[in-house]
Amino acid sequence: MTSASLENRASALNSQLESLDLAGRLALVAGLEGKAVFTTSLGIEDQVITAAIGTDKLGIDVSTLETGRLFNETVALIDKTEETYGILIKRFYPEQDDIDAFAAKYGMNGFYDSVEARHACCGARKVKPLARALEGASFWITGLRRGQSGNRAETPFAEADLDRGLIKINPLADWDIETIRAHVVTEEIPINPLHARGYPSIGCEPCTRAIKPGEPERAGRWWWENDEKRECGLHVPETAASAIPQQTSPSSSPLSSSIAR
Ligand code: SF4
Repeated sequence: MTSASLENRASALNSQLESLDLAGRLALVAGLEGKAVFTTSLGIEDQVITAAIGTDKLGIDVSTLETGRLFNETVALIDKTEETYGILIKRFYPEQDDIDAFAAKYGMNGFYDSVEARHACCGARKVKPLARALEGASFWITGLRRGQSGNRAETPFAEADLDRGLIKINPLADWDIETIRAHVVTEEIPINPLHARGYPSIGCEPCTRAIKPGEPERAGRWWWENDEKRECGLHVPETAASAIPQQTSPSSSPLSSSIAR
């Protein structure tokens, strides 16, 4: 499909999705020709989507990026969610060679030292595994919401992702956080216990802190960086994918044996 036809199709889908509720939006995408993949971080928005997919038994793949640096609470929630909805959540792990190359160049926790290093780590642990998760997909479903940050304020329901050659679907784009919180209570959807401890947005453990009252929802992500539009690269791929250092031979990295999955 050409870029123009992908954009036209996304625009038409955006209009169709706008008038539907969440179940209707997901059912519409599941019924389209082409593989649909939902990538979940196990955050509260993503749990709402997973619950809808699992409850209605929709033909949508559910995948997660198991970066090797997740909170224990997040890892436990993967299992609990599978059990609750009787679904399989496919885990996509980083490649050991990429982690070795990062550690050799920056040090295991070198992401604190520069934006370049942070993008390289996110590239190895998230962006490259995401590419594998989306192989063969025509539709990529995400939990992005307009209210999450200024960077996401214009999030449409459907948009062309020209870099990946697919259409990105954001079925919760117009939901606010209060609606999400009420929905998980009403529907008894399991959520990460860290949300109740001041973590509205949860990523890797070393890169996520609790926020203070009045701070933006994503203020606890990569809090040491000044850029208010900071992202991991999943939704702005040019920032992270190109930052992964060249792979080195395993023997050149003294940290190879300490790499998490
Ligand atoms: S969030 Fe932190 S630990 Fe996770 S991939 Fe990005 S830089 Fe690495």
